[in-house]
Formats: sequence, C-alpha cells, structure tokens
Amino acid sequence: MLYFDHNATTPLLPEAKRAWLEAVETLVGNPSSPHRLGARADAALESARERLAAALDCNVGDIVWTSGATESNNAVLSHVAGMAKGLSGELLVGAVEHPSVLSSALRHFGKGVQKIPVDAHGVVALDWLEEALAGRSVRLVAVMAANNETGVLQPWREVVALCKSRGIPFLCDATQWLGKLPASGLGDCDFVSGSAHKFGGPRGVGFLKCPSGSAFAPLLSGGKQEEGRRAGTENVAGVLAMLAALDVRESTLARGAQRERLGWREEFEQALTAELPGTSIVGAGAERLWNTVSAMMPETDCRQRWVVKLDKAGFAVSTGSACASGREEPSHVLAAMGLEAGEAGRVLRFSSGWESTREDWQKLLAGLREVHSAMIELRAT
Ligand code: PMP
Repeated sequence: MLYFDHNATTPLLPEAKRAWLEAVETLVGNPSSPHRLGARADAALESARERLAAALDCNVGDIVWTSGATESNNAVLSHVAGMAKGLSGELLVGAVEHPSVLSSALRHFGKGVQKIPVDAHGVVALDWLEEALAGRSVRLVAVMAANNETGVLQPWREVVALCKSRGIPFLCDATQWLGKLPASGLGDCDFVSGSAHKFGGPRGVGFLKCPSGSAFAPLLSGGKQEEGRRAGTENVAGVLAMLAALDVRESTLARGAQRERLGWREEFEQALTAELPGTSIVGAGAERLWNTVSAMMPETDCRQRWVVKLDKAGFAVSTGSACASGREEPSHVLAAMGLEAGEAGRVLRFSSGWESTREDWQKLLAGLREVHSAMIELRAT
C-alpha cells in the first residue's frame, strides 16, 4: 500500500519509537514525585522543554505539554473566553481553520466570531484583517500556519506583526507546518499549537506555546502540573518521542531536503492536470506545503468512489481532512475558497511523507490514470 495520507497522521519514526521505549523502561517515576525517580523523569521533561523552546525560539517556560493540537486549541479558546467574561469584543478566526479552532471559537463566542476571509487560492486576506483590527475590540486572532486540506501556507509572520503592534493575542495552529517546514520563528506568536503524530511522533501528545509571564486559565484543572496551566500527569515517554521526531525532521529541513520534494509535487501536479483533462489543483496560485496536493478530479465520479477504487489499487488517499471524513456536509475550507458543493465533492487530497519518493508520486499518477480509465469504461457500458 502506498500511503498518501500523511496530513491525517504519520508512521512513527524509528528514532521516536526508540526514545519512547527507552523512556518507559528507564523513566519510571512521576515527574511531580519528590524522590529521585520522580526528579529524573522531571529532568527529562524539562530538557525536552528546552529543546522545543529552542526550536520555536521562545522561552522554556512558554511550553505546556498537552494531548495534541485539539486540546491545545481548545485550551486557548477556553482561556480567552474566561478572560473576556463580561467584556465585549470579537474573535477574528481564519475561515479555513481546523474545526478544533473554529467550533471551539463558536462554542465560546457565538456571534462574536468573525471569519477572516480567504482569497480564491485559500490565503487569508491581510488587508481585511488590518482593517478589522483598526476598527474593533478584538480578543484574539487565530490563523493557522498551513492548511491541512489544501497545504496552503498562511502569512503568519505578517499576522504576528499586525497583532503585535496592536497588542492583540495571536493563536497560530502550526500542526501541519511543524516537521514539514522549519519551526524557527513560530515562538513570536503568543500561542502556538502542535501535535506529535503529524511529524513522526506518537498520537495523543502535543504542546501549546503560551506566554509564561501572564495568567492562563487552564482547560483541565486539578493538579499543579505545567505551572498550573494543564493539570494531569505528563506523558513523559510521548513528549520524549515527540522531540526525537522533531529533531529528525528539523535536521532534514536544515539540509534543505524539502526543496527537491517540492519539485516532485509540482511534477506530479503538471502531469496530473495534463493527463486527466478536467482536473485542477486547489490553491494552485498559493505557496503550499511540499507534500500536499488538493486536486479537483474530473467529473467521472464522486470522491468517495475515487478513494475506494484507489484503496483497492493500493493507494491510501483522502477526501480532505480526516476529522471531516464520513460527514456529508462539504468542506468549509473549499467553500471559503469559493468552490461550489459539486466541485468540492470532487476534491481529493494526496499528502506524501518524507520517506515518499519521486517514484511513489509517479506510481500514484499511474494509479489515478488507471482508475480514471476504468471509471470511464464503466460509464460507457
Ligand atoms: N489542527 C490541524 C491543522 C490539524 O490538521 C489537526 C489534525 N487533523 C489538528 C489541529 C488536531 O490535531 P490532533 O490530532 O493532535 O488533535
């Protein structure tokens, strides 16, 4: 099976597995315990915190370990809602954000949520944001670093500058960016969320970067772990495995290995649109992750059927976000980009991994060609 669904989740890296096994075997104490075994686990956790802070360029105390990006995003929205209680103000949230940001924002702020529009390529409108920030009382701006469905990169550095100059907190969901592009500079955002399983770490562990100097109302209350910002015994092995994975990806990125892979993606897109008439690339005009292709397929069949047929042919691909699969309603990401429901119903997502080769992309293209021909033949009978 050729796996082209890395934006949903990635296989565990051997380095992460080794770090996890070593941690569960050697770090048996609870990091909050007063004895030496506890202190040893705590020291390992703190050294992981230092490594992540160095990668993001932020203070060590800014890092809070969580169960993943869904929790991190929910924690920020819940905190902001707590701080805003009884006060007026709006939330400006990118129209293509992950549901863990969007639905959480709507739950806490309802009509106070304003969606930042995106252009036809899926990039948030900075001029709209600038105007909105000038005229309103804003509690939080949330714009992701890279979109999970389309791979479209968002101008988060520009958003940092806009928010900083006005003193408005900014949440950047960097879940799809981390491990695919360098983490450096993300620490400039007030809040950053990330998830290990998107870059070769285990599922169920992630982090939230939040400013250590100011109060943070925890989503999970209980013990005093994580300086009172997230109760619950830390997942020490998970955190160490996450950092082992991030180290591998950051050193691959430092060698510039993403540039060659961007070429493979472009080559695939050109061949796909040339060979399967009626195919177009979603977000084609925007800068996108080197691993993600969001393609509107020809009108031969609906996307669910494409996925099933490709699965049978040995290719694991997706219809979009894993979280949205199985639901009937069209993707809010594609709708925000101006696609009609019928068009959105033809969009497939192919997301490669670091280990995917140029030949893998070529095999996928051949698979698509075959499935397409079989569909056309079936229609003709
Ligand atoms: N944000 C984005 C952009 C994502 O792609 C995902 C995973 N689909 C999440 C948040 C949620 O991450 P997790 O699986 O760690 O809850």
